[in-house]
Amino acid sequence: MRVLIAILVFIGAGVYWLILDGSTPKNADYEFPLAQMRGLIDADNGPLPTALNVEIISTDEAPLLAAHAGFHFKPFQLAMTSVQVKGGNGDGGGDIIIGGAMDKTLYEPSTQSDNATFSDAGYRRMLDAMLASDATLITHEHIDHIGGIVRAPDPAALAPHLMLSAPQIDAMAEFAADDGLAAAYKNLAPADLSAPRLLAPGVAVAPTPGHSPGSQVFLIRLDNGEEYLLIGDIVWAMKNVEKAWGRPRLLQYMFFKEDRALVQRQVRALNVLSAAEPALILLPSHDKDWIDALIAAEKLGENFQ
Ligand SMILES: [Zn+2]
Repeated sequence: MRVLIAILVFIGAGVYWLILDGSTPKNADYEFPLAQMRGLIDADNGPLPTALNVEIISTDEAPLLAAHAGFHFKPFQLAMTSVQVKGGNGDGGGDIIIGGAMDKTLYEPSTQSDNATFSDAGYRRMLDAMLASDATLITHEHIDHIGGIVRAPDPAALAPHLMLSAPQIDAMAEFAADDGLAAAYKNLAPADLSAPRLLAPGVAVAPTPGHSPGSQVFLIRLDNGEEYLLIGDIVWAMKNVEKAWGRPRLLQYMFFKEDRALVQRQVRALNVLSAAEPALILLPSHDKDWIDALIAAEKLGENFQ
C-alpha cells in the first residue's frame, strides 16, 4: 500500500511538474529595455507611423492548457499573424512588416483543429506589403513566424526587404520545401539586431532571447500617441500576462527548446509592466480574442492597407 501511495504521489508530482506548473518568480528581476527604446524614438524627429494593421493569415484552436499551464481544457483561439506599421511620410513608403506567419503548405500539415482556417488573400496581401516595405522583420525564427517568408513564391524579390539576424537566418533551412532553401536566402547578410535599435521613426526593436535565441520585441509609437509592444511568443495568451503564469514544461520539451527560467522571468516582467503602464498596448502574436478586441476598439487596423 505504501509503495502504491508513493507511486501515485510520484506520478502526481510528475503531472504537476510537466503540465500544471506555470509559476513565475515573485520578484520581477527582468527588465525590457523600454527606456532605451523610447530614448531612441524620442531622439528621432521623423514623422511617426500613422497606423498599425494586422493580417490574420491562418487560425487554429488548441486546449488553453497548451498556452496556460493547468486544467484548462476550453479551446484557445490561435491566430498566425503579421503586423504592418504604416510609415508617416505620406508617400506610401516607409512601411515596416513584422512577422511572416506560414504559407499554406506549412499550415496544412500543422493544423490541430477542424476549425482551422487559412486566408489565401491574407497571405497574398502580406507578401505584397513585404515587397513594398522598407524592411520586413520577425519576432522570432519559429515556423509560424518565418515559414511564410521561407516559402514565399518569389524569394529573389523578397530577400532585399528582409532584415533578419544571424540566428533567424540560420533557422530558415529547416522550413524549406523539399527542393531546399532558395538561393536568394542562402547568402542573406545578417542584420545586427544584438542591441536596441531604431528601425524607422517611432519603431524600435530590442533583443529578448528566451523563447528562442533570435526572439525580439518591437516598440511602436503612432502619431496619435498610442504605444504598442509586440511581444511575439513570450506568451501566447494575454491570460499569461494577467496571471503571471507560463506554459507547461511538457510542451517546451516536446516541441521547442526555450530557456524556461528566462521566459518565466519575462512573463512576470510583462505582468508588472502591464500594471505599471496600462496605456501601453501589449500585442502577443497568437491571441486571437485579444487581437479581435483590439480591432473592435480601433487600436489595430484589420488587414493590410
Ligand atoms: Zn508562434
